[in-house]
Amino acid sequence: MTSPDTETSSLYAKREPVFPKRVSGQFRTLKWWILAVTLGIYYIAPWIRWDRGPSLPDQAILVDIANRRFFFFMIEIWPHEFYFVAGLLIMAGLGLFLFTSAAGRVWCGYACPQTVWTDLFILVERWVEGDRNARIRLLRQRWDLEKTRKYLTKWTLWLLIGLATGGAWVFYFTDAPTLLVDLVTGNAHPVAYITMATLTATTFAFGGFAREQICIYACPWPRIQAAMMDEETITVAYREWRGEPRGKLKKGEPVSETQGDCIDCMACVNVCPMGIDIRDGQQLACITCALCIDACDEVMDKIGKPRGLIGYLALTDERAERAGQPARSAWRHIFRVRTLFYTALWSGVGVALVVALFLRSPIDINVTPLRNPIFVTLSDGSIRNTYDVRLRNKQGEARDYQISVTSAADLALSLEGVPGSVVTVPANETMTQRVYIIANRGTSAAEAERTDVRLWVEDLSAAQRVHHDTIFNGRGN
Ligand code: SF4
Ligand code: SF4
Repeated sequence: MTSPDTETSSLYAKREPVFPKRVSGQFRTLKWWILAVTLGIYYIAPWIRWDRGPSLPDQAILVDIANRRFFFFMIEIWPHEFYFVAGLLIMAGLGLFLFTSAAGRVWCGYACPQTVWTDLFILVERWVEGDRNARIRLLRQRWDLEKTRKYLTKWTLWLLIGLATGGAWVFYFTDAPTLLVDLVTGNAHPVAYITMATLTATTFAFGGFAREQICIYACPWPRIQAAMMDEETITVAYREWRGEPRGKLKKGEPVSETQGDCIDCMACVNVCPMGIDIRDGQQLACITCALCIDACDEVMDKIGKPRGLIGYLALTDERAERAGQPARSAWRHIFRVRTLFYTALWSGVGVALVVALFLRSPIDINVTPLRNPIFVTLSDGSIRNTYDVRLRNKQGEARDYQISVTSAADLALSLEGVPGSVVTVPANETMTQRVYIIANRGTSAAEAERTDVRLWVEDLSAAQRVHHDTIFNGRGN
């Protein structure tokens, strides 16, 4: 039997829709700029061209899966150079540590794709349906022609944004102008259509409906970054010691001497995209977007009180201000041992990547000795070892590579199917050349079990050479 209490309680709270009110101010302006720049980069980047010569794609940013290469303007990353991508991911991680320890969830509030696209969707919603009160009225009113028209317009615009988002994503993986034509004419690969459909649907659902639910319930980041923040981290906070006891401001009546600066106007709550009240203290749901600061500053201006009832503040500042002392400058919170340590790590990885980028060789050599059998005895008694040498030409033109061997022992080298010791590797290609190393009968390498050898590859037109060390196996008598 179920008790009446059990029947009425639920593990899941029904989502209360959030209708953020329009607000203006310095942080809102900053957020508009970040939105314009990040979305602009995302949508425009695949269309930027970059001339790399006739044998290479001219798309500035391209993840060329078919040829297993990544192009970023003048930089070309091959699969065996994945450490560059790993390095960039490490830098992104360290950057997040740095920003979080300096200014809390600044990534969530300003630059996270979920925040940016939700902002854009809310902008469309406000443009079609009006500001907060009009949107609440429209939600509550029964379905009629006006509501149907407005909702259909909004959903269509959201779908178009979703489609542009999914479309832009697939353009990063193949030549964008060609793919656009293929998509429109129905000739693109099914994977392109499936990816676009998936991204269109997720953008539509996450930006249009799930919104703050993604940040509160789906994203692990709020839980992780709590470990990176300390009492010196600046974050958005309500100066409760200044605002309380709050009280409504009644027209024509003087403000009571005992009343705090908060006039309980709810402006900070009404603009919050997460639907929370910052006056309740620090909350997991707060993405530190600072819109409540703009809203409250506007109210303070109107009632003639100093700005900053809600502001960026560290816990140490809170303690100081409560004790009647001034807060430390924001710069002193940003530049401290912890953030400087993260900055040093971030810069170290960045410098290492740049150095590695400039020092990398345009030729790559990889040697695989054939071990079955480990050596062959030829009719004249000499010993032969076989190796597969993989040569990678990273240049935009064919190159002649000379293969040679050096060792303390006397060894000869020959190439399978090639007279002499020079092979031609086509532009931007990898080829495998079978190489034989021979030790004459009675020489030290033929009689020893193992002899160290060094295989060299020299680019004849650029006078550059690289080597790979390996082993020559003899009889071992
Ligand atoms: S906007 Fe400022 S004055 Fe209005 S309720 Fe929020 S904290 Fe109080
Ligand atoms: S409480 Fe303020 S800073 Fe936090 S999410 Fe809401 S509006 Fe943004």
